[in-house]
Amino acid sequence: MCIFCKIVKGEIPANKVLEDEEFIAFHDINPIAPVHILIIPKEHVENFQSVSPELMAKMTPFIQKVAAELCLDKTGYRLVTNNGKDGGQEVPHLHFHLLGGAKLKWTHL
Ligand code: IMP
Repeated sequence: MCIFCKIVKGEIPANKVLEDEEFIAFHDINPIAPVHILIIPKEHVENFQSVSPELMAKMTPFIQKVAAELCLDKTGYRLVTNNGKDGGQEVPHLHFHLLGGAKLKWTHL
């Protein structure tokens, strides 16, 4: 079972910011920005390339709600998903990185 499925099952603790029946948002254990939240579906989906349009349609408002709860809708934020080996994906369970709390720089490395 992947590490994020263990978080879904409660077998690994997570510092959650929002949860509903289908999604969880929790703090990244190794933050790269003042605010660094991971947003995952409870269903195991490997990555963005394999997510269904139906699940994404439900995930979008959940992500927007997390951003609003953290007041990032006012200040701005970055939403990133790493897909596959060259994308730098380490955990094979779809997740979006919600980054904010500072004026972020942009890099491809
Ligand atoms: P990826 O490189 O896009 O797959 O990102 C995986 C992210 O998961 C990294 O930013 C890690 O710091 C984070 N991470 C890994 N294990 C845990 C955990 O148990 N709790 C919270 N974040 C985690």
